[in-house]
Amino acid sequence: MNIRIVVAGPRGKMGAEAIQMIHREENLQLVGCIDRKHNGKVAENLPDVPIYEDAEECFKHIGADTFVDLTVPDVGYKHTKAALEQNIRPVIGTTGFTDEQISELSILSREKKLGCIIAPNFAIGAVLMMTFSKMAAKYFPDVDIIEKHHDNKLDAPSGSSIKTAELMKETRNVKDQGHPNEKETLIGARGADFDGMRIHSVRLPGLVAHQEVLFGGPGQTLSIKHDSYNRDSFMEGIKLAIEEVMNLEELVYGLENIL
Ligand code: NAP
Repeated sequence: MNIRIVVAGPRGKMGAEAIQMIHREENLQLVGCIDRKHNGKVAENLPDVPIYEDAEECFKHIGADTFVDLTVPDVGYKHTKAALEQNIRPVIGTTGFTDEQISELSILSREKKLGCIIAPNFAIGAVLMMTFSKMAAKYFPDVDIIEKHHDNKLDAPSGSSIKTAELMKETRNVKDQGHPNEKETLIGARGADFDGMRIHSVRLPGLVAHQEVLFGGPGQTLSIKHDSYNRDSFMEGIKLAIEEVMNLEELVYGLENIL
């Protein structure tokens, strides 16, 4: 059976890559797009499927099974809610949803008994990097996360770095790192503070998505590092999520929970 999919953000870097992946896979079928610039048109460089500006209108008119969002946080959140309300199962790659938005979507998803997957990182290697970091944090409470992304990224720190810190919080003994009397002579020099762990965000052209989790202990350091060199690295995870969301009846946050 083909899984019928609507994609939001088809002109974006991730959206365009996701559409190519859907075309390659025999069991997946693109049936519509949501794009703020091409209402009702079949635009050049976009697939030959109906394009809607309005998500609700799209979901009402198109019989889709799943919806993939690769846009920006505020819009992605509204799209996700609209999809669930129309009984369509969302797979969300858009990063930057707030905790409140995620819990609201989680409640809606459970009420509707509909699967919804939100994953700040669809690269399987990145998910393993997070899992290994969670293991290491039990033994190394001193840890900094250095995440590096292209300079068009809107949110900082990245969703993946926050997710990594959340996972490490489950195993790490709470500790304020660094010297108790340390002073930042330039604000931000020590990075963002997440439960005593530091997150540093680098934004530069040429980068895609990279993260290093650096642990320090007496006489040793441990570095766990993952690099996405292009957006193809996320597609295997998106495909898996599209297939798995069909079997779920609630919201799952993080790809590690469906691997
Ligand atoms: P991008 O190239 O900037 O694409 C974003 C797309 O969203 C564009 O098509 C853009 O259209 C559209 N958009 C922006 N504002 C909109 C609005 N108000 N209404 C409707 N559409 C709007 O970005 P990207 O690199 O593809 O990334 C897209 C999202 O995926 C980001 O949130 C990023 O953090 C996330 N991401 C997730 C993963 C993961 O593994 N989960 C990996 C990489 C990226 P315009 O051209 O008209 O602005």
